[in-house]
Amino acid sequence: MALSLYIHYPFCLRKCFYCAFNSRTDASCTSDEYVAGLLRELEMRSGMPEKGSFAGTLYFGGGTPSLLESCQVEKIIDAAAKHYALSADAEITLECNPGTITFEKLTALRATGVNRLSLGVQSFEDDFLQKLGRAHTAGQSLAAFRAAREAGFDNIGIDLIHSLPGQTLVQWQSELSRACELSPEHLSVYGLTVEEGTPFALLEEEGKLLLPEEEESASMYEKSSEMLGASGYEQYEIANFARPGFRSRHNSGYWQRRPYLGFGAGAHSYLQLPASGIRFSNTERAEDYLQLISSGCLPTSESRNLSRDEAMAECLFLGLRLTEGVSLDHFYKEFSVSFQEVFGTACADLFAAGLLEIRNGYLRLTEKARILSNQVFVRFL
Ligand code: SF4
Repeated sequence: MALSLYIHYPFCLRKCFYCAFNSRTDASCTSDEYVAGLLRELEMRSGMPEKGSFAGTLYFGGGTPSLLESCQVEKIIDAAAKHYALSADAEITLECNPGTITFEKLTALRATGVNRLSLGVQSFEDDFLQKLGRAHTAGQSLAAFRAAREAGFDNIGIDLIHSLPGQTLVQWQSELSRACELSPEHLSVYGLTVEEGTPFALLEEEGKLLLPEEEESASMYEKSSEMLGASGYEQYEIANFARPGFRSRHNSGYWQRRPYLGFGAGAHSYLQLPASGIRFSNTERAEDYLQLISSGCLPTSESRNLSRDEAMAECLFLGLRLTEGVSLDHFYKEFSVSFQEVFGTACADLFAAGLLEIRNGYLRLTEKARILSNQVFVRFL
């Protein structure tokens, strides 16, 4: 059984106006202190949850993990190899903010074993980047992409956001074209969501956030599938596209409910045992996290054993995010009951409305349901 590892680095240069992630700009510790905490946690949790398992992916997320020095990244990779049997062909991803990297740094990161970059471009227009409060320019994104190629990265993902304030469908098409011109191996394309407690939420409350109408936003989503599909990208998840062979192995594990361990402030974990599985998360504030680690305690703040019903629901609403859907055979093997027996009646109208379908033993969202996915997922909760 392959395990995934996630490392959370919660510090950023600037807080983006839409961001509700566990990230902050007022670092209360040095990055060396934080990395020392991470190394200690990697050691404290060491030992694989299941005999014979190994770590198949390692993902540095944030926050802005590209603020880490390459030598700090190397120490973390070494610790993952030492304590979690990180496989020789592991996918090792680092999220990069384009304003934080240079060719030299990328070259050094590549030498540590990082073999995949997730570049937070978000938009190729400075105007939109400013509206989002991003700490980089479009020029820096282009330079970062080219530098990453020169540094030897042959697996690069680009993140874009659509339905930005004032954005039109034509402008979004231009963003997609510019992304395709760079020819990354992977693209994540999310619609902007206004999260509680963010500056955008406040602007929306005051009626000052002019977002595209729902219909235009839906057209942007559809245009993404159409244009990226025509450019050779396979849509393997609601918001994720990849060239053949370049799906994110790490994120695919989340949707397939494979086990993962998260390290760092606010990091989440999921293990399949005991019983129907357990989810737990670390304390969010970096100060509390380091305090607990330094006193020899695991920084877990919440832990929940899943009931069988919850595990079944998760299997569906996570698995249905994938284009291929959920294997009904796998569902039966895991829960000893068929999907039809548990959800058949409750979902009959979704089949009738053409939102769900069964193809080759897989339950999946129809193409038209992808944009309405949340309406389908609530049925399983
Ligand atoms: S860079 Fe990412 S994590 Fe940091 S504030 Fe912006 S959106 Fe949030």
